[in-house]
Formats: sequence, structure tokens, C-alpha cells
Amino acid sequence: MTDEKSAKTRRDFLKLATVAGSVALVTAITRPLYAQASAATGGTFDYIIAGGGHNGLVCAAYLAKAGFEVAVLEAKDIAGGNTTSEHMTGTSMLHEPCCNTPGGLYNSPAYHELELSEWGVNFADLSTLNGMVRLSQFFDGEILPMWVDPKQTAEEIARFSRRDAQTYLRLMDELQSGPDTGRYRETPIGYGPSLSEICAEHPKGATRMRLMRQRCVDSVKDYYENDYVRAWVLDYAKGRQPVDDVGTGMGVGGMYGRQRRGNTTIIGGTGAIPEGLTRLLASYDAPVLTKKYVVELLVERGRTTGVVTADGDVYRARRGVVSSAHVQQLETMAPAGSLPDTFTDNLRYWKPDILSMYSIMLDVKEPPLFNVHGDWRPGCGNTINTFESQLRTLADCRLGVVTPEGVGSKLIVQSLEDPTRCPDGGHAVRILTHYPYELADGGAVKWDEIKHDVAKKHIEEWRQYVKNLDDDNITAMYVQSPLDIEGRNINNVGGSCHGGSNDWAQYGEMRPVFGWASHRMPIKGLYLTGAGSHPGGSVNGLAGRNAAWVILDDEGKSIHRYLTRLASA
Ligand SMILES: Cc1cc2nc3c(=O)[nH]c(=O)nc-3n(C[C@H](O)[C@H](O)[C@H](O)COP(=O)(O)OP(=O)(O)OC[C@H]3O[C@@H](n4cnc5c(N)ncnc54)[C@H](O)[C@@H]3O)c2cc1C
Repeated sequence: MTDEKSAKTRRDFLKLATVAGSVALVTAITRPLYAQASAATGGTFDYIIAGGGHNGLVCAAYLAKAGFEVAVLEAKDIAGGNTTSEHMTGTSMLHEPCCNTPGGLYNSPAYHELELSEWGVNFADLSTLNGMVRLSQFFDGEILPMWVDPKQTAEEIARFSRRDAQTYLRLMDELQSGPDTGRYRETPIGYGPSLSEICAEHPKGATRMRLMRQRCVDSVKDYYENDYVRAWVLDYAKGRQPVDDVGTGMGVGGMYGRQRRGNTTIIGGTGAIPEGLTRLLASYDAPVLTKKYVVELLVERGRTTGVVTADGDVYRARRGVVSSAHVQQLETMAPAGSLPDTFTDNLRYWKPDILSMYSIMLDVKEPPLFNVHGDWRPGCGNTINTFESQLRTLADCRLGVVTPEGVGSKLIVQSLEDPTRCPDGGHAVRILTHYPYELADGGAVKWDEIKHDVAKKHIEEWRQYVKNLDDDNITAMYVQSPLDIEGRNINNVGGSCHGGSNDWAQYGEMRPVFGWASHRMPIKGLYLTGAGSHPGGSVNGLAGRNAAWVILDDEGKSIHRYLTRLASA
């Protein structure tokens, strides 16, 4: 066994190499590199992690830090899952096919406890935004910019309603000083208070509880009076769950993450997350092996003892297996009869996300310019329709209809904050919006037929409001439909971006199945992490950390030593 001092010296050396590596990245276009090997054939470890998305890697990192021998097996040729940065347009520019604004990672305990900043995962500074976070462009020509200074944003809101401007600033403070309901997400189910218990012990708990049970469409109307402002707030609330779902009321504060932290752009691209975690794991001699699709769980005498990969390799696990594969894969991976009927019966009703994503990635020579009160400036923006039209588009999504026009989209240029993504100059633009995966007229495969026409419409729409999005400026383009999103990652079943809907029937103690929400699966030695487990999708590493918490507890390890945020709470 290596002594801890020399291991630490080696880790410090690797951290320094990380810094040097990010400099080299400016000129190198060979990324993504986040995998140590793909040729290993079998082996024995303490824990095998099936799936190398960021949650699998985070879980592995905690276990490695706690002294366990760990190996991560990833089905694809690169790790990262939905957190990669790739040369989507076939040029030197890096684009994010999936997650591009990992806002939840910023304050995540996993980010701080694993010291990811030292492993090369760093956020662009707000000062790189040049004063403006986003410009919201209404289809009737009206605008509402969000400025880095919240008071300046409130002044913009005051052009529509003085009362709404006051509400904007008041709610920003109130929601922050309310009960710390984030604790619920940062704690495995059964290891801490429920949402209602957290709220019960706080003077403002009643308000928070109401918001958490309401629909966002109602909370927005309750708090804001002006039609433009309501549409603007609703637009920022759109994301994981449809805004007319029960339990989305907190979306009324959805814009404050942007207001406080901007785009949460990661320098070098979101792919720096799996890259940094892979380096961290390497410092503990924990391999991340790619092209290793886990197809079978080995169960002996009622205990999970390893996995078999599609190429026939056997990886033995002395202590356990952690799966971050899509929850419905468990049934096919586990030996027949090893999972209780009540578990598999309920998993069969698992619902994908209603809102899938659609994006257009563009290489451009010059950044698009937005007209902000007569001043043409580069930045990021959203096109938005009225409150009612947004709800109609949502209803269309539920019916599998691609709304023909007036679907708002985001136009994001993160290379303005992080030029390293474009080593040969120019800018990487992404236009993205939500559409359904399954189309009423033609099913999901219809996307292959229509996706380029849809792209044309969105680009035409943006051309009405921004300068510089003409054919001369666009040098390359890649369009990704909900069907393509499913094709990228076996976990994106039905075009899901978050491992499956996070509605009331699949949230908290219900994720993935009531009775099995604490990451321990029905077979001994088998654990679940990833977006299909608590607290669900998005990039924050919480599902990885929560699973590690439960495993360390089962191992009798001191939780506070590895989950240091708990020690200081
Ligand atoms: C288009 C899109 C945009 C998004 N934008 C954002 C955003 O801006 N901000 C944000 O916070 N979140 C965003 N998300 C959501 C977020 O990216 C995901 O919720 C998150 O990355 C899930 O992480 P994970 O580690 O749980 O799973 P994944 O990233 O899905 O990783 C799972 C990994 O496991 C592998 N795997 C699966 N089965 C097996 C198996 N049997 N054997 C071996 N390997 C296996 C897969 O290949 C994959 O690499 C977006 C998602 C998408 C699709």
C-alpha cells in the first residue's frame, strides 16, 4: 500500500499538471481526453461503478478518497455522459451537446469537498459578461435585459411596473433568507428531515411550503401583475419540469440563479468536469475505463459481486456495485427473479421528461449583436412570447406537437466569457429550446425529417432581432433534435435530459421507487446513483454524493471526514 504522504505529493503534482493542462488546452484540439484506458480486460476492485457520467465519477471520487479501490466502467468512448464538450461542428470549436450551464454545481458540496477547482473545474467570472447577463427579446419588439446589477434589472422591470420591480428585489432576498430546503436535495432520503420538517422549523416555512406545492403558472400570477414581466419570469422558470406541473411554484424565483451567477460557464467547457474528476480518480489509481457497457450484474448468494460487460469481460467487486445506468436498465442487468416484483412493476411506469431539448450549434466569425436600447452589443439572449402563448406551446409539447412559430429560444455565446473554446478565433453559438420527443404526427423518427426546417425557422426568427447572424458569418452548423439526444446517451431514454421526469410521482422518496429511494437497491451490495436517483437530474453531483454517503455509512466510515460540509454545518 502506498504511504499517504507520497500519495499526497503525487496528487499535488497532478493538480499542478491540471493547471498546466488547461493552458495547453487553448491550443490543443484533441479533446475530449477524459478516459485513462479502454483496453483493460477485467479485474477486481472494491467497488465497480457502472456509468461514467458526472454522478458516477463523483461517487467514485468519494469512495476512492475513503480508501476503496474503485473502477468506473463507461459504455461510450468518452466519460462524462451529458457533461461533455465536443467538436460538434467538426471544427476546432468546442460546443456542449448537452449541459452548458451547470448552475447547480456552483454551490454544490461535491464541488467544494472534492476541490474540483484544483482539478481544473472553474467558472468564468461575472465580469466577463460585460454588464449584461441576458437580453429577453419579446416577439413584439419589446425588450427586458437582465443586468449583472440586480438594481439595474429592477429599473428595467420598473418600465413595465414599479410594483413588480419592488417585488423582484424583495423576493430575491426573501427566497434566500427562507428555509434551507436545498438541504433536502443534499441529503440521502432517510438521512435528514423531510421538506415539511425543514419548513416547519423556520418562521417563513409556510410560504416556502406553499410555493413548493403550487404550480409555477399560479405563483407567477400571484406575485407579478404586468403581462411582460409575468412572461419574462415564466420564461426563466422553464427548464426541468413544465411550469404548469404541481410542485413547480418555486420557479417564480427561477431567474435569481442567473441574476446571481450569470451563465455559470465553465472555463474550457462543461467537459472540464469529467476531465477533472478523471484526473482526480487517476491520482488514487482508480481507472475510468471506456467502451465498457455493463450488461449483466453478477449476483452470488444474494449479493452483488461484479458485472459483465458487452465485450465479455468480468469485473469483480469485493464490496459492491454502484449503477448510474438508467433505472429501467436494472431489470435487464439483474439476474431473473433477483429483484422483487413490486420494484420492477413500479419501474415499468417510469416516465421520461415531458420536455426534451433541441439545439442548433453554430460556429460564427463575429458574435451576434443585440439591440439594447439602441446600443448594439454582444451577449446572450432569449426570445419570448406572451405568458398565454408560452402555455399554449407547453400544451403542444404534451400533445406531441411542434408549435409552428413563436416558440422562444435561448441564444447563448459562452465563448464571449471563455475564449479557450475557440482556439482559432470566432465564437461558438448555441440556440436551444424545448420540444417533445414523441411527435403525434410521425413519432420520434419524424425529427430526422424536420429538424433542419425547424433550425431554419429559429435562425430566421433571431435574424429579426440580432445583427450578424447572416450566412456570411455562420461558418459551420450542427442541429441536434430530441431524437439525437436519445441517441447520444443510453440514459436519455425518450429524449429525457434528466434521467426521467421529476414530477411529484418521481421526486424525493419516490425516486426511483417508493421504499428504495436511499440509493440501496433490492439486491445486497447494489447501489443506485445518477439522475434517476435522489435528487434527480441536472449537473450538481448531488446524486453521486448522496449515494457515496449511504455507502460510506454502510461501511461504517466516518461520514464527516469525507463529507466535510456536514462537519461545518
Ligand atoms: C441537451 C441537454 C441539456 C442539458 N442542459 C443542462 C444544463 O444546462 N444544466 C444542468 O444542470 N443540466 C443540464 N442537463 C441535464 C444534465 O446534463 C443531466 O441531468 C446530468 O448530466 C446527468 O448526469 P448523470 O451522471 O446522472 O448521468 P449521465 O450524464 O446520463 O451519465 C450516465 C453515463 O452512464 C453511461 N451508462 C449508462 N448505462 C451504462 C451501462 N449499462 N454501462 C456502462 N455505462 C453506462 C452513459 O453512457 C453515460 O455516460 C442537460 C441535459 C441534456 C440532455
